[in-house]
Amino acid sequence: MEHNIISVSGGKDSTALLLLAIERHPDNMQAVFADVGNEHDITYEYVRYLEKATGVKIRWIKADFSQQIERKKAYVIAKWSDKGVPQETITRAVSALVPTGIPFLDLCLWKGRFPSAKAAFCSEELKRNPIIEQVHLPLLEDGNTLYSWQGVRADESRRRAALDELENVGGGLWNYRPILKWTASDCFAMHRKHGIKHNPLYEMGMGRVGCMPCINCRKDELLEISKRFPEAIERIRQWETAVKQASKWGATFFPAPSVDSEWSAKQTIDVVVEWAKTSRGGKQYDFLRVQDNGPICSSLYGLCE
Ligand code: SF4
Repeated sequence: MEHNIISVSGGKDSTALLLLAIERHPDNMQAVFADVGNEHDITYEYVRYLEKATGVKIRWIKADFSQQIERKKAYVIAKWSDKGVPQETITRAVSALVPTGIPFLDLCLWKGRFPSAKAAFCSEELKRNPIIEQVHLPLLEDGNTLYSWQGVRADESRRRAALDELENVGGGLWNYRPILKWTASDCFAMHRKHGIKHNPLYEMGMGRVGCMPCINCRKDELLEISKRFPEAIERIRQWETAVKQASKWGATFFPAPSVDSEWSAKQTIDVVVEWAKTSRGGKQYDFLRVQDNGPICSSLYGLCE
């Protein structure tokens, strides 16, 4: 049997994708939302609204890193002292390595760091893998053919422009990218055609919708978040403290230029927010990797906007 699986993120592209699937396969589609635990409540409310407004059940799934954290704890106890890590750091890390049930935070506790543009493991670990493990594999194991609908658009990046609309992954799985040639305006037009509201965050200074903030967020977006949603900055502040406890060198949400503890310690979310308040190219924090025009998520799966 054929199945159409539509990944919903709460952003405009995946909403357009969902609406297109409703037009084409109203009786043979399933929608899934991978909750990473770092979205704003407005996005969670929007996903619930989408379910109600379209009448399509949206399955919520979450990654679980409790086993990885347990294994990391065992490794820290067994190996860190051999590597010259001070006992004080080991004790601190062992007590910090406790799963919280918040996927984004637990992933960072396990890795001992936050993801970055160069090491963007978040989309894969928090969205792609749980969707494959919890949704795709059970269907494929039963011998089904599965079309994984992905809301990527060619005009977002050269890598995405090089993708095929239909790709045979093997084992009964196909990647399907029906809005590859669409523009952002086409996606909003699809909302209007179906009488569906877009995520209100687009009217609140957010260029993209997903994590708040995303590791790739733009400077002006970060400033807007700090003004409108200080609770999102507070959450990251708390996570920086938690992940730092669990790591050897310290960890900050926006990446440090090296593992040097002095730099890492300085580059907290508060420092980055201060920098975001400076005029274009503000000198004092220009070592930071947050850019005026930050890159989009490099994932080719379109799971993050
Ligand atoms: S939205 Fe950004 S931070 Fe969140 S999972 Fe995607 S790339 Fe990572």
